[in-house]
Amino acid sequence: MAVNTNDLMNTIVSLAKRRGFIFQSSEIYGGLNSCWDYGPLGVELKRNVKDAWWRAMVTNRRDIVGLDASILMHPKVWEASGHLTGFSDPMVDCKKCKERFRADHLENLDKCPKPKCGGELTEVRKFNLMFKTFMGPVEDSSATVYMRPETAQGIFVNFLNVQQASRLKPPFGIAQIGKSFRNEITPGNFTYRTREFEQMEMEFFVPPAEDDKWYGYWRDARLQWYKDYGIKPEHLRLRDHEKDELAHYAKACVDVEYLFPFGWSELEGIANRTDYDLKQHEQHSGKGMAFFDDESKQHYYPFVVEPAAGADRATLAFLVDAYDVEGEGKDERVVLRFHPALAPIKVAVLPLVKKDGMPEMGEKIYRDLLDNSIKSFYDQTASIGRRYARQDEAGTPFCVTIDTQSLEDQTVTVRERDSREQYRVASSELVGLIQKKMRESMR
Ligand SMILES: [Zn+2]
Repeated sequence: MAVNTNDLMNTIVSLAKRRGFIFQSSEIYGGLNSCWDYGPLGVELKRNVKDAWWRAMVTNRRDIVGLDASILMHPKVWEASGHLTGFSDPMVDCKKCKERFRADHLENLDKCPKPKCGGELTEVRKFNLMFKTFMGPVEDSSATVYMRPETAQGIFVNFLNVQQASRLKPPFGIAQIGKSFRNEITPGNFTYRTREFEQMEMEFFVPPAEDDKWYGYWRDARLQWYKDYGIKPEHLRLRDHEKDELAHYAKACVDVEYLFPFGWSELEGIANRTDYDLKQHEQHSGKGMAFFDDESKQHYYPFVVEPAAGADRATLAFLVDAYDVEGEGKDERVVLRFHPALAPIKVAVLPLVKKDGMPEMGEKIYRDLLDNSIKSFYDQTASIGRRYARQDEAGTPFCVTIDTQSLEDQTVTVRERDSREQYRVASSELVGLIQKKMRESMR
């Protein structure tokens, strides 16, 4: 498919709106910059992405447990983590057009980069990326709290709570999915870079001597996860951070990158954070954060390997990668080839006509699917071709059609999204068949 990459992104943004994946926030008021709302299909897709992550990281593992920490935390957390002093971008303002720019993104700090402006720029100033608010009724500095800029710190401050409550010893991990907030100067590229976003982070605590081994393990495991859920391998790569890109406490870091229409961009970072965070919190809180090893009778600070992924970025990558246009002219179809586990709707139930008992049979099949927690959709309007097209565009892997023969022998036609292959099955066996297909897609 030869399309200009900008066109591709625009096409996906408009499809996302039209089909109810993603809407602009507060659209009737003109929208709010970089804020987006997930519609009926989008919320299912994103939930499925988060569920797939949680299964891989928590449910299916013996060595990782979950956590759901609060968004607002004690301000000293951000002092200890370095976010209060270090989490800022160097900014300049144009004195003429008043626009603000990241100083490190400009080639020339003498004049405004906008061609028609060319105004004089201010001195470089540091701009902290944390959102600030006040706790309680008094708006003064003693009441200042911050919206967390990452979920990781909620894990670090709970390290010993979780370790002792679950009686785990390193190597073990704590995983969390939740919202974070960064007052980015230049958000953009649809849901890729936003000021409010959802993270999927896991901190894996290991004996210091095992850090390299586990860093290698999580690099491979996290890249593989995107492939397992259908992203084309040629659209994925690992990019090691250069020494000068590394956070001062990090020993190594690698990004899982995806080839978006706007270029290679980070989906997830895997970092060896060493024992920096636990030691920082010990120092700032005065509470011991070391792990006591029963066997050696010694305290030590575990090293931390952190795979930190963006739920919105992953969702966007799965959406972009699933998009396909097949055929030409009147045979052309737009199809979202989602992995069945990620598809917002698994089955569409389509009576061929709106009479002769077909809707009644369709209704019964639909009810049966829903009773088995198979997210399904019932549609008896328009021609069958139109209805297939709508489902292809929503990424629904299976369509089930009820026709005249169905009323005679209680069979239905199953049509598969990708191959368009069609076959008949007894309606009583439909739920079992879909469950089997879903299970097989997970291997
Ligand atoms: Zn200007």
